[in-house]
Amino acid sequence: MCFLAFALVRAWFPKNFMTVIAYIYLEKVLRMHELSVTKSLLQLVIRHAEVSKVNRVVGVHLEIGEMRDIVEDLLQKCFLYLARGTIAEGAVLKINVIPLTCICHTCNEVFPVDSRKGFEHLSCPKCRGFNLAPYTGQEFIVKAIDVL
Ligand SMILES: [Zn+2]
Repeated sequence: MCFLAFALVRAWFPKNFMTVIAYIYLEKVLRMHELSVTKSLLQLVIRHAEVSKVNRVVGVHLEIGEMRDIVEDLLQKCFLYLARGTIAEGAVLKINVIPLTCICHTCNEVFPVDSRKGFEHLSCPKCRGFNLAPYTGQEFIVKAIDVL
């Protein structure tokens, strides 16, 4: 539906204007992604805080894989916004980004991967095999919660 509307609008406006529209559309999609992730994160943090009967949550330690495409600043802003009036109001997110690595199922080598270079010609640096799978880089883990 969104794409249909986008295609229709595209036919009516000049190219530069369309670039701006596309940018706004992309930004909206990104924000929705961070927002939905933050909602789940906040629910989890509040649930654990309530079970442990703490007064306040002041920090949340996260491990997030680079393939999650999380914008750290946006995640923090979403968290601050959604946590207003809850036990986690004002809590700071401490994010540790986990780099992307792959494992070779032929020789068990684990090696770092530069996701910016793409995956088309990716092979194992040890045996040159192609029997690969992601090893790290897709995590979204709450490691610890700082409380008062
Ligand atoms: Zn290998």
